[in-house]
Amino acid sequence: MPERVDLRLPLRADLVDEQPYGAPQLDVAHLLNVNENPYAPPEAVVRDIADSVAAAATTLNRYPDREFLDLRADLAGYLAGESAAEGLTAHHIWAANGSNEVMLHLLQAFGGPGRTVMSFAPTYSMYPEYARDSLTEWVAGTRRADHTLDTGEVIAQIEKVRPAVVLLASPNNPTGTALPLADTRAIAQACASTGPGGAATVLVIDEAYAEFRRDGTPSALTVLGEYPHLAVARTMSKAFALAGARVGYLAAAPELIDCLRIVRLPYHLSAVTQTVARAALRHTGALQAQVAQLREERDACVTWLREQGFTVADTDANFALFGTFDDRHAVWQGLLQKGVLIRETGPEGYLRVSIGTAEDMAAFRGALKEVTGR
Ligand SMILES: *Cc1c(COP(=O)(O)O)cnc(C)c1O
Repeated sequence: MPERVDLRLPLRADLVDEQPYGAPQLDVAHLLNVNENPYAPPEAVVRDIADSVAAAATTLNRYPDREFLDLRADLAGYLAGESAAEGLTAHHIWAANGSNEVMLHLLQAFGGPGRTVMSFAPTYSMYPEYARDSLTEWVAGTRRADHTLDTGEVIAQIEKVRPAVVLLASPNNPTGTALPLADTRAIAQACASTGPGGAATVLVIDEAYAEFRRDGTPSALTVLGEYPHLAVARTMSKAFALAGARVGYLAAAPELIDCLRIVRLPYHLSAVTQTVARAALRHTGALQAQVAQLREERDACVTWLREQGFTVADTDANFALFGTFDDRHAVWQGLLQKGVLIRETGPEGYLRVSIGTAEDMAAFRGALKEVTGR
């Protein structure tokens, strides 16, 4: 072995002491910590995906379709049916390796040095990371004590901070509560000239859990046509049971999509990913067959937790935030010892449980009773 040269790597000063982000990936019986769909894709879907990938493999010597207009058209068709969104075409859609990458593209295009991105805590823990990675200043605004947004207050905070981008998850993670459409509209209207140099603030509604929303909760997609600065992000990771494929997307005006096309890496969406996503979209019904069941399981879980005396935020997602605990880490640890992995996240004293199968939820209820003695 030659002697090793002694040196220091020039890691960016703001990254020194940072840890790679991620929830623990542990091998336990009941995985209720990252809001995955607990149901594996059905056999017929698996076969179609495998056959489609085999066909795509014959041309893997070539770079994939950089604009992936076929996939974008399929996604536009899906959204039109799912959310009664009108007038969507392939040119209104963008996609990437998870909606995490879609949102990174948004910050690469609209954020950057001297600019600010804003969200309202508690919310998705990845948002500050996109800010850091795109050298955009991060500002966390505040919510009401019950974790809902006070629209007047939100608008006042936006007018003061003047961010280039506002990220709002609806349903929010980790609280689960959806943003009423009237609030989305009011905030979108206020964002028309609150951005850098009097430009608009790009308003991103992150609807990763939209398919789980309760009846009568409309998607922000229904007002997309009114606001050229509105982007609605979705993912195939949750309701579609396709977290492993890494496919996220957004809908927005074509002018906004064109801005994202500038910053994407060439061929960022592999031919395999495009093929898998298109195959999955041919089986939307089968893949989402369990969404209704998961919503029922969620509502039952919320009712049960409240009966036990816990505080639970209203939820339109496939998870519930509940508490409060003097020592939440001890409860999390106790559940883990019984084979139930949930998430230690959100406001102090709260825990978040993803909704699993009936069997998962029975295990969760049993373990929680034992651990808390309720
Ligand atoms: C899970 C989740 C996403 C989706 O991430 P992917 O990269 O698409 O897997 C986006 N936003 C929120 C708030 C989430 O909880």
